[in-house]
Amino acid sequence: MNVIKCRAAVAWEPTAALMMEEIEVAPPQEGEIRIKVVATGVCHTDLYHLFEGKDKRGFPTVLGHEGAGVVESVGPGVTDFKPGDKVIPLFLSQCGECKFCKCPKTNLCDRNWSSKYHDIMSDPTTRFTCRDRPILQFMGTSTFSEYTVINQIAVAKIDDDAPLERVCLLGCGISTGYGAAVNTAGVTPGSVCAVFGLGAVGLAAVMGCKNAGASRIFAVDINEQKFEKAKVFGATDFLNPKAYNKPISEVLAEMTNGGVDFSLECVGNTEVMRTALESCVKGWGVSVLVGWTDVKDFSARPIQLISGKTWKGSLFGGFKSKDSVPNLVCDYMTGKIKLDEFITHKMSLEQVNDAINLMKTGQCIRCILNISK
Ligand code: NAD
Ligand code: ZN
Repeated sequence: MNVIKCRAAVAWEPTAALMMEEIEVAPPQEGEIRIKVVATGVCHTDLYHLFEGKDKRGFPTVLGHEGAGVVESVGPGVTDFKPGDKVIPLFLSQCGECKFCKCPKTNLCDRNWSSKYHDIMSDPTTRFTCRDRPILQFMGTSTFSEYTVINQIAVAKIDDDAPLERVCLLGCGISTGYGAAVNTAGVTPGSVCAVFGLGAVGLAAVMGCKNAGASRIFAVDINEQKFEKAKVFGATDFLNPKAYNKPISEVLAEMTNGGVDFSLECVGNTEVMRTALESCVKGWGVSVLVGWTDVKDFSARPIQLISGKTWKGSLFGGFKSKDSVPNLVCDYMTGKIKLDEFITHKMSLEQVNDAINLMKTGQCIRCILNISK
Protein backbone atom coordinates (compact mmCIF):
# COMPACT_ATOMS: atom_id res chain seq x y z
CA MET A 1 0.00 0.00 0.00
CA ASN A 2 1.05 3.55 -0.67
CA VAL A 3 1.98 6.53 1.44
CA ILE A 4 -0.64 9.29 1.08
CA LYS A 5 0.44 12.89 0.86
CA CYS A 6 -2.28 15.23 2.11
CA ARG A 7 -3.06 18.49 3.83
CA ALA A 8 -3.05 18.78 7.61
CA ALA A 9 -2.92 21.56 10.20
CA VAL A 10 0.27 20.96 12.19
CA ALA A 11 0.82 22.33 15.70
CA TRP A 12 4.62 22.65 15.66
CA GLU A 13 4.83 24.09 19.17
CA PRO A 14 2.61 25.11 22.10
CA THR A 15 0.62 28.37 21.83
CA ALA A 16 1.64 29.02 18.20
CA ALA A 17 -0.83 29.17 15.31
CA LEU A 18 -1.37 25.90 13.46
CA MET A 19 0.38 25.67 10.08
CA MET A 20 -1.14 24.16 6.95
CA GLU A 21 1.35 21.58 5.73
CA GLU A 22 1.64 18.66 3.35
CA ILE A 23 2.17 15.56 5.49
CA GLU A 24 2.86 11.93 4.63
CA VAL A 25 0.44 9.38 6.05
CA ALA A 26 1.87 5.85 6.18
CA PRO A 27 -0.23 2.81 5.23
CA PRO A 28 -2.16 1.17 8.07
CA GLN A 29 -0.23 -1.55 9.87
CA GLU A 30 -1.55 -4.69 11.63
CA GLY A 31 -4.97 -3.93 13.13
CA GLU A 32 -5.04 -0.36 11.84
CA ILE A 33 -7.38 1.62 9.61
CA ARG A 34 -6.57 4.56 7.35
CA ILE A 35 -9.44 7.03 7.35
CA LYS A 36 -10.33 9.88 5.01
CA VAL A 37 -11.57 12.54 7.42
CA VAL A 38 -14.70 14.29 6.12
CA ALA A 39 -15.52 16.67 8.98
CA THR A 40 -14.35 17.53 12.47
CA GLY A 41 -15.42 19.67 15.37
CA VAL A 42 -13.04 21.80 17.41
CA CYS A 43 -13.23 20.98 21.12
CA HIS A 44 -11.85 22.84 24.12
CA THR A 45 -9.52 19.89 24.78
CA ASP A 46 -7.65 20.82 21.56
CA LEU A 47 -7.22 24.33 22.99
CA TYR A 48 -6.17 22.87 26.34
CA HIS A 49 -3.32 20.95 24.71
CA LEU A 50 -2.25 23.92 22.63
CA PHE A 51 -2.46 26.68 25.24
CA GLU A 52 -3.12 25.43 28.76
CA GLY A 53 -1.54 22.00 29.36
CA LYS A 54 1.73 21.77 31.30
CA ASP A 55 3.26 18.92 29.32
CA LYS A 56 4.95 20.56 26.37
CA ARG A 57 6.39 17.32 25.01
CA GLY A 58 3.34 16.42 22.93
CA PHE A 59 4.55 18.46 19.91
CA PRO A 60 4.72 18.66 16.95
CA THR A 61 1.29 17.17 16.59
CA VAL A 62 -1.89 17.22 14.54
CA LEU A 63 -4.78 18.15 16.83
CA GLY A 64 -8.46 17.27 16.41
CA HIS A 65 -10.33 14.39 18.04
CA GLU A 66 -14.00 15.04 17.21
CA GLY A 67 -14.16 13.81 13.63
CA ALA A 68 -15.96 11.51 11.25
CA GLY A 69 -14.88 10.01 7.96
CA VAL A 70 -14.74 7.09 5.59
CA VAL A 71 -12.41 4.08 5.65
CA GLU A 72 -9.79 4.44 2.87
CA SER A 73 -7.89 1.18 3.50
CA VAL A 74 -7.33 -1.37 6.23
CA GLY A 75 -4.20 -3.08 7.52
CA PRO A 76 -3.63 -6.82 7.96
CA GLY A 77 -5.93 -8.53 10.43
CA VAL A 78 -8.77 -6.00 10.17
CA THR A 79 -12.02 -7.85 9.50
CA ASP A 80 -14.75 -5.57 10.89
CA PHE A 81 -14.07 -2.64 8.55
CA LYS A 82 -13.83 -2.26 4.78
CA PRO A 83 -13.07 0.70 2.48
CA GLY A 84 -16.10 2.98 2.23
CA ASP A 85 -17.44 2.33 5.74
CA LYS A 86 -18.50 5.45 7.63
CA VAL A 87 -16.63 5.74 10.91
CA ILE A 88 -16.03 7.91 13.96
CA PRO A 89 -12.50 7.93 15.50
CA LEU A 90 -12.50 7.39 19.27
CA PHE A 91 -10.10 9.19 21.59
CA LEU A 92 -11.01 6.52 24.13
CA SER A 93 -10.55 3.02 22.77
CA GLN A 94 -12.43 -0.16 23.63
CA CYS A 95 -10.29 -3.24 23.01
CA GLY A 96 -12.88 -5.50 24.61
CA GLU A 97 -10.24 -7.67 26.25
CA CYS A 98 -8.51 -5.74 29.04
CA LYS A 99 -9.73 -5.81 32.65
CA PHE A 100 -11.35 -2.39 32.25
CA CYS A 101 -13.21 -3.28 29.06
CA LYS A 102 -14.48 -6.44 30.73
CA CYS A 103 -15.78 -4.52 33.75
CA PRO A 104 -19.20 -2.87 33.40
CA LYS A 105 -18.27 -0.23 36.01
CA THR A 106 -15.95 1.73 33.72
CA ASN A 107 -15.34 2.77 30.12
CA LEU A 108 -11.56 2.99 30.46
CA CYS A 109 -9.41 0.79 28.23
CA ASP A 110 -5.87 -0.31 28.97
CA ARG A 111 -4.89 -0.16 25.31
CA ASN A 112 -5.87 3.48 24.88
CA TRP A 113 -3.49 5.97 23.23
CA SER A 114 -0.75 6.50 25.70
CA SER A 115 0.25 9.76 27.33
CA LYS A 116 3.46 7.88 28.17
CA TYR A 117 4.41 8.11 24.51
CA HIS A 118 2.87 11.56 24.13
CA ASP A 119 -0.21 11.58 22.05
CA ILE A 120 0.15 8.76 19.61
CA MET A 121 -1.64 5.51 19.16
CA SER A 122 -1.17 2.63 21.54
CA ASP A 123 2.43 2.08 20.46
CA PRO A 124 5.38 4.49 20.44
CA THR A 125 5.33 5.17 16.71
CA THR A 126 3.28 7.54 14.59
CA ARG A 127 2.02 7.20 11.03
CA PHE A 128 2.58 10.91 10.25
CA THR A 129 5.69 12.65 8.98
CA CYS A 130 6.21 16.20 7.78
CA ARG A 131 9.45 17.77 6.50
CA ASP A 132 11.19 14.52 7.54
CA ARG A 133 10.05 14.86 11.16
CA PRO A 134 7.66 12.45 12.91
CA ILE A 135 4.42 14.20 13.88
CA LEU A 136 2.47 12.94 16.92
CA GLN A 137 -1.18 11.97 16.73
CA PHE A 138 -3.13 13.94 19.32
CA MET A 139 -5.25 11.64 21.49
CA GLY A 140 -4.51 8.87 19.01
CA THR A 141 -6.86 10.46 16.48
CA SER A 142 -5.65 13.67 14.70
CA THR A 143 -8.68 14.76 12.74
CA PHE A 144 -7.28 18.12 11.56
CA SER A 145 -5.87 16.16 8.62
CA GLU A 146 -7.32 14.85 5.36
CA TYR A 147 -6.17 11.34 6.29
CA THR A 148 -5.32 9.65 9.56
CA VAL A 149 -4.43 6.13 10.72
CA ILE A 150 -6.07 4.70 13.81
CA ASN A 151 -6.05 1.34 15.55
CA GLN A 152 -9.32 -0.53 14.99
CA ILE A 153 -9.96 -0.61 18.76
CA ALA A 154 -10.40 3.18 18.56
CA VAL A 155 -12.81 3.38 15.62
CA ALA A 156 -16.60 3.01 15.62
CA LYS A 157 -18.44 1.90 12.47
CA ILE A 158 -21.66 3.89 12.09
CA ASP A 159 -24.84 3.95 9.99
CA ASP A 160 -24.30 4.36 6.21
CA ASP A 161 -26.87 7.17 6.14
CA ALA A 162 -25.36 9.22 8.96
CA PRO A 163 -24.46 12.83 8.02
CA LEU A 164 -20.75 12.94 8.87
CA GLU A 165 -20.59 16.73 9.17
CA ARG A 166 -22.94 16.48 12.18
CA VAL A 167 -22.37 13.10 13.81
CA CYS A 168 -18.67 13.95 14.12
CA LEU A 169 -19.75 15.77 17.30
CA LEU A 170 -20.44 12.38 18.88
CA GLY A 171 -16.69 11.69 18.78
CA CYS A 172 -16.27 13.86 21.84
CA GLY A 173 -18.21 16.81 23.22
CA ILE A 174 -21.80 15.71 22.93
CA SER A 175 -21.30 12.12 24.05
CA THR A 176 -19.19 13.44 26.93
CA GLY A 177 -21.70 15.92 28.32
CA TYR A 178 -24.78 13.81 27.62
CA GLY A 179 -23.27 10.68 29.16
CA ALA A 180 -21.96 12.57 32.18
CA ALA A 181 -25.59 13.36 33.03
CA VAL A 182 -27.33 10.10 32.11
CA ASN A 183 -24.53 7.64 32.99
CA THR A 184 -22.09 9.12 35.50
CA ALA A 185 -24.40 11.38 37.49
CA GLY A 186 -27.35 9.07 36.95
CA VAL A 187 -29.82 11.98 36.86
CA THR A 188 -33.24 10.81 38.08
CA PRO A 189 -36.76 11.88 37.05
CA GLY A 190 -38.02 14.93 38.93
CA SER A 191 -34.55 15.92 40.17
CA VAL A 192 -32.99 19.39 40.28
CA CYS A 193 -29.72 19.83 38.36
CA ALA A 194 -27.11 22.52 37.79
CA VAL A 195 -24.71 22.60 34.85
CA PHE A 196 -21.64 24.87 35.12
CA GLY A 197 -20.22 25.96 31.75
CA LEU A 198 -22.39 26.09 28.66
CA GLY A 199 -20.07 25.12 25.83
CA ALA A 200 -21.02 22.09 23.76
CA VAL A 201 -20.11 19.76 26.64
CA GLY A 202 -22.24 21.64 29.16
CA LEU A 203 -25.16 22.05 26.76
CA ALA A 204 -25.05 18.31 26.08
CA ALA A 205 -25.14 17.77 29.85
CA VAL A 206 -28.25 19.98 29.99
CA MET A 207 -29.77 17.81 27.24
CA GLY A 208 -28.90 14.69 29.26
CA CYS A 209 -30.53 16.08 32.42
CA LYS A 210 -33.64 16.93 30.41
CA ASN A 211 -33.83 13.49 28.72
CA ALA A 212 -33.38 11.83 32.13
CA GLY A 213 -36.45 13.69 33.38
CA ALA A 214 -35.00 16.46 35.56
CA SER A 215 -37.70 18.91 36.63
CA ARG A 216 -35.44 21.94 36.97
CA ILE A 217 -32.12 22.58 35.27
CA PHE A 218 -29.97 25.55 36.27
CA ALA A 219 -27.60 26.73 33.53
CA VAL A 220 -24.59 28.58 34.96
CA ASP A 221 -22.11 30.56 32.86
CA ILE A 222 -20.20 33.84 33.08
CA ASN A 223 -21.03 34.46 29.41
CA GLU A 224 -24.75 35.29 29.30
CA GLN A 225 -24.85 34.87 25.53
CA LYS A 226 -24.90 31.12 26.18
CA PHE A 227 -28.26 31.21 27.98
CA GLU A 228 -30.43 31.32 24.87
CA LYS A 229 -28.93 28.05 23.59
CA ALA A 230 -29.22 26.44 27.02
CA LYS A 231 -32.96 27.04 26.84
CA VAL A 232 -33.11 25.12 23.55
CA PHE A 233 -31.63 22.07 25.29
CA GLY A 234 -34.01 22.25 28.25
CA ALA A 235 -32.50 24.56 30.88
CA THR A 236 -35.15 26.25 33.05
CA ASP A 237 -33.10 28.76 35.10
CA PHE A 238 -30.10 30.87 34.15
CA LEU A 239 -27.40 32.19 36.47
CA ASN A 240 -24.36 34.38 35.89
CA PRO A 241 -22.10 34.03 38.96
CA LYS A 242 -20.67 37.50 38.26
CA ALA A 243 -24.09 39.09 38.74
CA TYR A 244 -24.23 38.17 42.44
CA ASN A 245 -22.24 39.50 45.37
CA LYS A 246 -22.31 36.14 47.14
CA PRO A 247 -21.13 32.67 46.08
CA ILE A 248 -23.33 31.08 43.45
CA SER A 249 -23.54 27.94 45.62
CA GLU A 250 -25.40 30.05 48.23
CA VAL A 251 -27.70 31.48 45.59
CA LEU A 252 -28.50 27.96 44.39
CA ALA A 253 -29.04 26.71 47.97
CA GLU A 254 -31.56 29.48 48.58
CA MET A 255 -33.40 28.82 45.33
CA THR A 256 -33.59 25.05 45.85
CA ASN A 257 -34.12 24.63 49.59
CA GLY A 258 -30.60 23.42 50.33
CA GLY A 259 -28.90 22.64 47.04
CA VAL A 260 -29.28 20.70 43.81
CA ASP A 261 -29.48 16.92 43.50
CA PHE A 262 -26.93 16.79 40.68
CA SER A 263 -24.27 19.25 39.52
CA LEU A 264 -21.94 18.94 36.54
CA GLU A 265 -18.74 20.96 36.07
CA CYS A 266 -18.18 21.45 32.32
CA VAL A 267 -15.58 24.25 32.42
CA GLY A 268 -12.26 22.68 33.43
CA ASN A 269 -11.61 25.10 36.31
CA THR A 270 -10.73 23.83 39.80
CA GLU A 271 -12.56 26.71 41.53
CA VAL A 272 -15.72 25.92 39.61
CA MET A 273 -15.29 22.24 40.51
CA ARG A 274 -15.36 23.20 44.18
CA THR A 275 -18.36 25.47 43.67
CA ALA A 276 -20.24 22.72 41.84
CA LEU A 277 -19.68 20.36 44.79
CA GLU A 278 -20.75 23.02 47.28
CA SER A 279 -23.92 23.63 45.25
CA CYS A 280 -25.18 20.09 45.89
CA VAL A 281 -27.64 19.22 48.61
CA LYS A 282 -26.21 17.34 51.59
CA GLY A 283 -27.29 13.75 52.12
CA TRP A 284 -27.39 12.63 48.49
CA GLY A 285 -26.08 15.35 46.15
CA VAL A 286 -23.82 14.11 43.36
CA SER A 287 -21.28 16.35 41.62
CA VAL A 288 -19.50 15.26 38.44
CA LEU A 289 -16.26 16.64 37.02
CA VAL A 290 -16.42 16.76 33.25
CA GLY A 291 -14.16 19.73 32.47
CA TRP A 292 -10.62 18.72 31.62
CA THR A 293 -7.60 20.01 33.54
CA ASP A 294 -4.46 18.52 34.98
CA VAL A 295 -2.37 21.53 35.92
CA LYS A 296 -3.19 22.11 39.59
CA ASP A 297 -4.72 20.54 42.68
CA PHE A 298 -8.25 21.26 43.75
CA SER A 299 -9.51 21.69 47.28
CA ALA A 300 -12.71 21.31 49.24
CA ARG A 301 -13.71 20.99 52.89
CA PRO A 302 -14.01 17.35 54.00
CA ILE A 303 -17.42 18.06 55.56
CA GLN A 304 -18.74 18.38 52.01
CA LEU A 305 -18.26 14.64 51.55
CA ILE A 306 -18.78 13.62 55.18
CA SER A 307 -22.26 15.11 54.91
CA GLY A 308 -23.12 12.53 52.27
CA LYS A 309 -22.32 14.14 48.94
CA THR A 310 -20.56 12.19 46.20
CA TRP A 311 -17.82 13.72 44.03
CA LYS A 312 -16.95 11.86 40.86
CA GLY A 313 -15.48 12.33 37.40
CA SER A 314 -16.47 11.33 33.91
CA LEU A 315 -14.41 10.50 30.84
CA PHE A 316 -16.28 10.41 27.52
CA GLY A 317 -19.55 10.44 29.44
CA GLY A 318 -18.92 6.98 30.85
CA PHE A 319 -19.82 5.45 27.48
CA LYS A 320 -17.99 2.32 26.37
CA SER A 321 -16.93 4.00 23.17
CA LYS A 322 -17.05 1.42 20.38
CA ASP A 323 -20.33 -0.07 21.60
CA SER A 324 -22.08 3.22 22.33
CA VAL A 325 -21.16 5.67 19.56
CA PRO A 326 -23.07 3.76 16.83
CA ASN A 327 -26.14 3.77 19.12
CA LEU A 328 -25.78 7.49 19.78
CA VAL A 329 -25.71 8.05 16.01
CA CYS A 330 -29.04 6.17 15.82
CA ASP A 331 -30.38 8.24 18.72
CA TYR A 332 -29.60 11.36 16.68
CA MET A 333 -31.17 9.97 13.52
CA THR A 334 -34.37 9.01 15.38
CA GLY A 335 -34.58 12.39 17.11
CA LYS A 336 -33.81 11.23 20.66
CA ILE A 337 -30.83 13.56 20.91
CA LYS A 338 -30.07 16.86 19.18
CA LEU A 339 -26.87 17.67 17.29
CA ASP A 340 -27.69 20.37 14.72
CA GLU A 341 -28.37 22.93 17.43
CA PHE A 342 -24.77 22.75 18.67
CA ILE A 343 -23.35 23.83 15.32
CA THR A 344 -22.90 27.59 15.12
CA HIS A 345 -20.16 27.86 12.48
CA LYS A 346 -18.83 25.96 9.46
CA MET A 347 -15.36 26.50 8.03
CA SER A 348 -12.64 24.88 5.94
CA LEU A 349 -9.50 23.23 7.36
CA GLU A 350 -7.51 26.28 6.19
CA GLN A 351 -9.56 28.40 8.61
CA VAL A 352 -8.73 26.25 11.64
CA ASN A 353 -6.96 29.10 13.46
CA ASP A 354 -10.09 31.24 13.09
CA ALA A 355 -12.15 28.37 14.52
CA ILE A 356 -9.79 28.05 17.49
CA ASN A 357 -10.04 31.78 18.07
CA LEU A 358 -13.85 31.66 18.03
CA MET A 359 -13.79 29.11 20.85
CA LYS A 360 -11.09 30.94 22.77
CA THR A 361 -13.20 34.08 22.76
CA GLY A 362 -16.46 32.27 23.56
CA GLN A 363 -18.13 33.16 20.28
CA CYS A 364 -19.07 29.68 19.13
CA ILE A 365 -20.56 26.50 20.49
CA ARG A 366 -19.19 24.19 17.85
CA CYS A 367 -17.46 25.11 14.61
CA ILE A 368 -17.39 22.26 12.11
CA LEU A 369 -14.41 22.09 9.78
CA ASN A 370 -15.17 20.50 6.43
CA ILE A 371 -12.03 18.54 5.67
CA SER A 372 -12.93 16.73 2.45
CA LYS A 373 -15.94 15.72 0.37
P1 NAD B 1 -16.10 25.66 25.81
O1 NAD B 1 -14.90 26.51 25.95
O2 NAD B 1 -16.90 25.74 24.57
O3 NAD B 1 -17.10 25.91 27.03
C1 NAD B 1 -16.71 26.30 28.33
C2 NAD B 1 -17.78 27.22 28.91
O4 NAD B 1 -17.46 27.49 30.28
C3 NAD B 1 -17.90 28.56 28.20
O5 NAD B 1 -19.25 28.82 27.85
C4 NAD B 1 -17.39 29.56 29.24
O6 NAD B 1 -18.02 30.84 29.14
C5 NAD B 1 -17.77 28.85 30.53
N1 NAD B 1 -17.02 29.32 31.72
C6 NAD B 1 -15.73 29.72 31.79
N2 NAD B 1 -15.42 30.05 33.07
C7 NAD B 1 -16.54 29.86 33.81
C8 NAD B 1 -16.84 30.03 35.18
N3 NAD B 1 -15.93 30.48 36.05
N4 NAD B 1 -18.10 29.75 35.61
C9 NAD B 1 -19.04 29.29 34.73
N5 NAD B 1 -18.80 29.11 33.40
C10 NAD B 1 -17.57 29.39 32.95
O7 NAD B 1 -15.57 24.15 26.07
P2 NAD B 1 -16.21 22.70 25.71
O8 NAD B 1 -15.68 22.24 24.40
O9 NAD B 1 -17.67 22.71 25.98
O10 NAD B 1 -15.45 21.83 26.83
C11 NAD B 1 -15.75 22.04 28.20
C12 NAD B 1 -14.76 21.29 29.08
O11 NAD B 1 -14.93 19.88 28.92
C13 NAD B 1 -13.30 21.55 28.71
O12 NAD B 1 -12.55 21.61 29.93
C14 NAD B 1 -12.91 20.34 27.92
O13 NAD B 1 -11.51 20.12 27.92
C15 NAD B 1 -13.66 19.29 28.70
N6 NAD B 1 -13.85 17.99 28.04
C16 NAD B 1 -13.82 16.89 28.85
C17 NAD B 1 -14.01 15.64 28.31
C18 NAD B 1 -14.05 14.43 29.18
O14 NAD B 1 -14.07 13.30 28.64
N7 NAD B 1 -14.09 14.57 30.49
C19 NAD B 1 -14.22 15.51 26.93
C20 NAD B 1 -14.31 16.67 26.15
C21 NAD B 1 -14.11 17.89 26.71
ZN1 ZN C 1 -13.05 16.88 23.03
